Amino acid sequence: MPRRSLICVPLQVESVDAALLDADAARASGADLVEFRIDTLAESTPDSRQQTIRLLRDTPLPCILTCRPDSEGGAYTGPEEDRLTLLHTALASDHPPAFVDVELAALERDPDVLQAFRAAKSASTTRVIVSIHDFRGRPADLSRRLVRLESLDLADVRKIAFVARSLRDNLELLDLCRHAPTPTIALGMGGHGLPSRVLAPKCGGFLTFAALRAGAATAPGQPTIHDLLATYRFREIHPETRVYGIVGDPVEHSLSPAVHNAAFEASGHDGVYLPMPVAAGDCPDDAFLALKATLPALIEHPSLCLHGLSITIPHKEPVVRLARELGWTLQPGLDQIGAANTLTVERDATGTVARVTLANTDADASVRCVHDLSVEPVGSTALILGAGGVARAVAVALLRNGGRIGLSNRSESRARQLAEELRAIFGDRVWLETDPDRLAPAPDLIVNCTPVGMAREGEPPTSPLSDEWLAALPKGTAVFDTVYRRGGTPLVRKARSLGLRAQDGLNMFVYQAAAQFELWTKRSAPMPLLWQVARELCG
Ligand code: NAP
Repeated sequence: MPRRSLICVPLQVESVDAALLDADAARASGADLVEFRIDTLAESTPDSRQQTIRLLRDTPLPCILTCRPDSEGGAYTGPEEDRLTLLHTALASDHPPAFVDVELAALERDPDVLQAFRAAKSASTTRVIVSIHDFRGRPADLSRRLVRLESLDLADVRKIAFVARSLRDNLELLDLCRHAPTPTIALGMGGHGLPSRVLAPKCGGFLTFAALRAGAATAPGQPTIHDLLATYRFREIHPETRVYGIVGDPVEHSLSPAVHNAAFEASGHDGVYLPMPVAAGDCPDDAFLALKATLPALIEHPSLCLHGLSITIPHKEPVVRLARELGWTLQPGLDQIGAANTLTVERDATGTVARVTLANTDADASVRCVHDLSVEPVGSTALILGAGGVARAVAVALLRNGGRIGLSNRSESRARQLAEELRAIFGDRVWLETDPDRLAPAPDLIVNCTPVGMAREGEPPTSPLSDEWLAALPKGTAVFDTVYRRGGTPLVRKARSLGLRAQDGLNMFVYQAAAQFELWTKRSAPMPLLWQVARELCG
């Protein structure tokens, strides 16, 4: 029976008073433990022993005491002897910490240190966490290190933290907890490691660390306690909880985790939805190879319980190629689109994979958005910017509904290929905007299916069309930007200022998410909640 996983808020102690206030806030936020990181206190404060003892005496929650040297990612650069003396003083005090953390490397470096910890442990109620860290990636000798750790016969809890280089690393980290002879903390650092942090309760992980507030993380990729409890509902996760996620690059700013987790909670669905970055790479084949190396491993893992994925930029087309290669089922009509945004895993009663299906919920969502803009697709002409996954979905949806489309893309060859594919099915209702043999008619509708307007952190958003070009359009033209961002995209803002009907991609996001929810849960989506969460985050 897996243990209940704890939540520990790590606190960098600069001053004891501030740390105690933060520990109070951590308790009020729902933490079980705090970790006092005394790396800088130990060096900068002459009476660091008294300060540490006051910290231990007055802490409102059980605590882990850690003084991490810089060689293991901490801030302590003083003599090793002083660091260990300080920890021993704390263990021998009247208020010893619930746990002390010491690095395997420190214990192996000096047999006297190991002896001293054994002696201190036998004379104290404190339990010892023996930790392994690697900030470059998974240590090549991890298995051997773990064997050595066990052979020390010192650890009450073992802690393994390394930078996760891909989602697959999470699977090993979760297995390290599940098959552990000793209570285990196994965490992936960085953006790829979030599943190991959130899913600790699935495998009886001893605890997970959560920052008290944004910007207070002590390791890359640590979620806030608010995210852990409110968004991911950590307390409700158990071994059978179904796992969902959004696969793409980038996914950090996606609204999907907030929206889907809220919908799961409201409908009583036992699931958790996570951002799952899969790198795009530099070459056209990189995205496909990254998906191929990742998705089957996640789907087939015996205890992850992966049940569904949203697929986003730039993986919507590569995932269809992968499905064809692996014999997954394609939703009827998906062949025409050639791009998917939804993967569903059906399992039998034993949890074995029964069927993997790809679907595209962008296509119907885009038609609903076109109707929202009071454009009737039948007989209308749309100019589509882009030739990637979303462009394919929008183009096929409009064509199926009787529309005509012109394609324009940064890489003309990709647009040309898409135009040829679609012309083979829909005839001369498809053309390439740049085709010199054809005078493209004025569009009734312009659809931006490129990421232009999204903008990465710190960059100003841009528009895929110049102001002059927009200003020359007839006033009846409608503009649909599939991109969404708080405050509106530059394209939509400019179009509206010119008196054009315009809508960003938030409605499409909600429609496609609702359809995904229904595919995964077989229940009606809680639409008012989806609108509320999406608008709160991006309205
Ligand atoms: P994708 O398959 O990677 O395709 C991206 C397309 O955009 C390609 O045609 C690409 O041109 C073009 N492009 C990329 N960067 C560009 C730039 N800087 N300037 C001009 N063109 C550029 O991506 P996707 O899955 O189709 O997604 C595209 C966008 O749609 C996303 O960024 C997202 O904002 C939006 N979207 C919205 C929703 C929603 O629910 N509202 C859902 C899905 C996607 P090349 O061929 O030259 O590379």
